[in-house]
Amino acid sequence: MDQAKKDEMREIIQKKLEETKTEIAQLKELTKPIKPDNAYGRLSRMDAINNKTINDAALRKQKKQLQKLERALVKIEKGNYGTCLKCGKDIPLGRLKFMPWTTKCVKCA
Ligand SMILES: [Zn+2]
Repeated sequence: MDQAKKDEMREIIQKKLEETKTEIAQLKELTKPIKPDNAYGRLSRMDAINNKTINDAALRKQKKQLQKLERALVKIEKGNYGTCLKCGKDIPLGRLKFMPWTTKCVKCA
């Protein structure tokens, strides 16, 4: 991967990192413990619990993505970003732009 592509991917990853961090902050807000008192009516409390379950799952997913993006940034600095872990071939730039955290080419994924 040449320098221009590296710079481009670094920018994409950093932007994605920021978005993911914002998303995590919002989800943390939404996944705060649900008050056991009567702050909710009976039905809306059920809604709150359902939403919390969904948001907890989304939060876990975003946290994983954040780790992967951070690893991708390290790889760019080390110079081994964009190479398939399995077959060692270059991962097409289009795929990297779509999923900057990917470590495998389409064939190996
Ligand atoms: Zn591969």
